[in-house]
Amino acid sequence: MKPGRMLSPIALAGALFLGLSSCGGGSNSSGGGGGPTPTPTPPPAAGADIAITNVRVLPMDGSGASDGMTVRIKDGLILEVATTASTPADATTVIDGSGKVLMPGLIDAHVHVYDDYEMPLFPANGVTTVRNMWGTPQLLTLRQRIRSGSLLGPEIVTSGPIIDGNPQFWATSDVATSPAEGRALVQAHKAAGYDFIKVYFGLDANTFAAIADEAGQQGLRYAGHAPRAFGVEEVYGSEIWSVEHLDGYLSAIVNPASGYVPGSSSIEDLFAILRDIRDGLRPASDLYSPSERARLAQVSLAADTAHVPTLSFWQQRYLTRAEVTAQKARPEMRFIHPSVRAEWAAAADAFFARYTDEQLELFDLQHDEDYRILADLFAAGVEIPTGTDARNPYVLFGFSMHEELEHYVTAGLSEMDALRWATSGAARLLGLEARIGRVVSGLEADLILLDADPSVDIANSTRIAAVFVDGRRYSRAQLDAALENVANGF
Ligand SMILES: [Zn+2]
Repeated sequence: MKPGRMLSPIALAGALFLGLSSCGGGSNSSGGGGGPTPTPTPPPAAGADIAITNVRVLPMDGSGASDGMTVRIKDGLILEVATTASTPADATTVIDGSGKVLMPGLIDAHVHVYDDYEMPLFPANGVTTVRNMWGTPQLLTLRQRIRSGSLLGPEIVTSGPIIDGNPQFWATSDVATSPAEGRALVQAHKAAGYDFIKVYFGLDANTFAAIADEAGQQGLRYAGHAPRAFGVEEVYGSEIWSVEHLDGYLSAIVNPASGYVPGSSSIEDLFAILRDIRDGLRPASDLYSPSERARLAQVSLAADTAHVPTLSFWQQRYLTRAEVTAQKARPEMRFIHPSVRAEWAAAADAFFARYTDEQLELFDLQHDEDYRILADLFAAGVEIPTGTDARNPYVLFGFSMHEELEHYVTAGLSEMDALRWATSGAARLLGLEARIGRVVSGLEADLILLDADPSVDIANSTRIAAVFVDGRRYSRAQLDAALENVANGF
């Protein structure tokens, strides 16, 4: 199946009704864009002894911002975080952090990566760790090159290939139609070196249960889509690691009084209701029940199920013609491989063939409910790490992390809370909280130095002066050079 394949109209309708998404959009197991590989950017020397003085620190450890701090970095670790007045700056390299802000590197907990060129786009945007949701043997090799320092890129936590039922949604997924097949695939993914198991919505209940059990026995977690065989509350109770895209949530909170029945009403019925909401003839609560929404958040909390909402994905899912034109004109698009750009344009064209611009705009009203869901999950205290679903159409590697932060703030979270779910909160999801996600002595020096404070205005998260990857410092000029290297490599 070609990368960038869009959902068929029927599957698309299912996606809308069920709250499912393609997720793997663009996923294939043979690599992404192809074409020439950009020259790896040689890393600055590791092991440098660096002191950043007089800097404002956002530690993301539950405390607030601290001014006038010195952060000492050595051998890839944060050696010390102390007030500048109390620490002699005897490091080899002293960076004046006056007017600057230091925070942990960002974590994108839902991406699809395949190619070399994609890697520098993450640290160039301050993203130092990603969780990849469809692993390939090629990616395991690529990860080794990043770890060895021969390629600039993020730390990668990756699932194996998607495990789906029959019929599978993507042609290149692994398929399990019995508990024995499910267990065998989990064992194979473990042996291959993948970190966790990705489940998909076509799995039958028995096979899903066997995969869950075998994953537990193998010491792996499993994450992904809610199998259709389960109700959403059963999925939350299944010890799934995280549910992606708020899968199943929308259909679970439909207000019965709306007359809309997920799975059986026509899409025209949905449009008719959305039109009424748009025109102020009925409130959004006529379609989605606020009390059910809040109740489901409590169910999530009780089940300890994390949600990675991927609002960037939903935002870009149903673009109008004018919005696609604007996306194509973004200067960052030149860092996306031309073949991927072509896939995205074709995907958009497929939507245009199916929907009018008015209908595409109506989908935005449905997307509005995702913000309310996120707000309720946050209020309930549910884990909501940030993830973008990058490589889906117009969800750009690295760049989209800053859009996801904006979405969290739009949903009503404070800037600091949004940043927390993009750093220490996401690190906890990944089980890496003892290594990354906070500016605390002893942790790895995956850090961003900013020219302005994102805890005051989330838009400042893009104002990156330097990024530290395992203690290696990349200046803005070096990051820009790495980006240009990508564009020139196509
Ligand atoms: Zn995905």
